Amino acid sequence: MTVQRIRSRFLVVGSGVAGLHTAWRASEFGDVLLLTKRSLFDSATSYAQGGIAAALGAGDSPELHRRDTLAAGAALCDAAAVEVLVEEGPARVRELQAAGAEFDLESDTGRLMLGREAAHSRKRIVHAHGDQTGAEVARTLVNRVRRHPRIKVIEKARVLDLLLHRGECAGVRASVRGHATEIVADVTVLATGGCGQVYRHTTNPVVATGDGYAIAHRAGVTLADMEFVQFHPTALDTPENPLALISEAVRGEGATLVNDAGVRFMRKQHRMAELAPRDIVARAIAREQRAGRHVFLDARKLSRVFSRRFPGILSLCLARGIDPRRDLIPVTPAAHYMMGGIVTDLRGRSSLDRLHAVGEVSCTGVHGANRLASNSLLEGLVFAERAARDIANVDPLRSAPRKREWRVTALEDRGAAQVSADLIREIMWRDVGVVRSASGLRSARQRLRDVGARLPEGATEEENLVQTAQLIVEAALRRKESRGGHYRSDYPRAKGIWRGRHIEL
Ligand SMILES: Cc1cc2nc3c(=O)[nH]c(=O)nc-3n(C[C@H](O)[C@H](O)[C@H](O)COP(=O)(O)OP(=O)(O)OC[C@H]3O[C@@H](n4cnc5c(N)ncnc54)[C@H](O)[C@@H]3O)c2cc1C
Repeated sequence: MTVQRIRSRFLVVGSGVAGLHTAWRASEFGDVLLLTKRSLFDSATSYAQGGIAAALGAGDSPELHRRDTLAAGAALCDAAAVEVLVEEGPARVRELQAAGAEFDLESDTGRLMLGREAAHSRKRIVHAHGDQTGAEVARTLVNRVRRHPRIKVIEKARVLDLLLHRGECAGVRASVRGHATEIVADVTVLATGGCGQVYRHTTNPVVATGDGYAIAHRAGVTLADMEFVQFHPTALDTPENPLALISEAVRGEGATLVNDAGVRFMRKQHRMAELAPRDIVARAIAREQRAGRHVFLDARKLSRVFSRRFPGILSLCLARGIDPRRDLIPVTPAAHYMMGGIVTDLRGRSSLDRLHAVGEVSCTGVHGANRLASNSLLEGLVFAERAARDIANVDPLRSAPRKREWRVTALEDRGAAQVSADLIREIMWRDVGVVRSASGLRSARQRLRDVGARLPEGATEEENLVQTAQLIVEAALRRKESRGGHYRSDYPRAKGIWRGRHIEL
């Protein structure tokens, strides 16, 4: 079968908050083609529980939000990007509300009901249906995108690589339902989300295989901060993939962490006990697990509050035979968010002409070494808006690359590919997870090389997994200190010489 070719003014890859928002806003300036690997709703965005941070409350201000974001980022944030995030965030949230997002409102005043999360100095978390904010954001944006006459959506379209032409990005090569397809576009926007699937324990959906990082790296695009992975301390400890998240807000309401000897071990670790920063809680839990103990969240005293405040979490626990009002909830840390990614400027431009990146796959610098809770949906909205306005100004391609014949290689051995993926996830969890060291990282590097060399023909997603894992390992080996989400047992402290320094790959 011959290669099919599609031409579009703008091409957006990914249907999370960042891709959907870019497509919606860019359609004002031209035709948009939106590709997504599975369905429009398959994204981390749909999973987000807690909410969107924005300085909208009385007594709050972008300045206070800025300070909290910078403090979480451990001296690695880009000050200008943080400024943009906090200043433009409130308008984006209002706009989403005007577009139909049903955020929770105060019953007496009708104003947005704002929650508080760890490391935020004010109540500023906008949420929907209690703990289903992401699904509401996705629903709102999907409605906009589906209705728009200038946006064409192709689901089950997996981007494989960028099309490079005369030193610029001219579009992508994709498998559209198994059919070799070239999409030629004046501008390509990668909004492919994160890479939690490189780890055995993750809260990220199965689509989060790091495709965007690997695709960009293969094309020579600059990435940075790949060592900074945020591990959420409390995912529901089951044999599933992905793991269900038990939001920090449950600890915020008073749930405690205990080991199977009934000891509340966080008290000894930090003055804020269970509400210590995510990385500290995650490491303390990992330490318990290494000592052979299981860890549980005890939310029994929340009882009725639990059903009212966390209906989503309650039903996902009940579906697995756990009733948090009576039972202890088994928890484990899990890979949750990638702070690093494709380096972009404030307009979403990458180091490659005609390629933009937005959302989790990008590295705008707003998160630094550690993301402040609920800042990622916000980042998706704010920088997608900026990227959409910027791409309107990009000139049409002067010439298109010549079409050449190629085929989508069918995966010969799905079982073998699955074994490889499991191996990668295991290696990463053991040696490149919550606690890292030079010896573990070197062993991971070697083992990943071996797995990569033995991947079966056609295992393109697993290839992306290996390459993204290798980027994390390389950056983690080079950063000989501990900072934010990156912790090395052989260099357990932050070092002055690493302050403000980024590892680019
Ligand atoms: C369980 C959970 C809870 C969270 N809670 C919050 C929260 O409360 N607040 C907050 O701010 N953040 C939260 N986050 C983080 C936040 O959800 C994500 O960072 C954010 O949604 C990322 O948006 P995105 O648009 O960049 O990527 P995603 O929403 O992940 O979307 C990526 C899209 O790209 C597609 N894609 C990937 N590869 C390809 C390819 N090769 N070809 C075609 N398409 C591709 C995917 O299918 C998907 O549609 C949470 C994350 C998780 C997992």
